[in-house]
Amino acid sequence: MSSAGSDDKATRAQAFVQGLVSPTQALGGHRELGTTALARRLGLTDEQLGGHWCSRCSGIWYGCMLEVECPSCGNRHG
Ligand SMILES: [Zn+2]
Repeated sequence: MSSAGSDDKATRAQAFVQGLVSPTQALGGHRELGTTALARRLGLTDEQLGGHWCSRCSGIWYGCMLEVECPSCGNRHG
């Protein structure tokens, strides 16, 4: 039974990467990479879009929760 708080930051970072945390809350400044073609075709509202971090672009793009590919550079690894 060691300290239970040590994994907390990693868990929150993971939640952010997976789009579970609003990127505007998590980051003060970032690039907006746009919305995926699929999300636009589905006509998703802002509430239905998930923010995804792209480390290659150092920015946020928006799409369905299941989407993983940055619409700007095609990076699929966050
Ligand atoms: Zn990218």
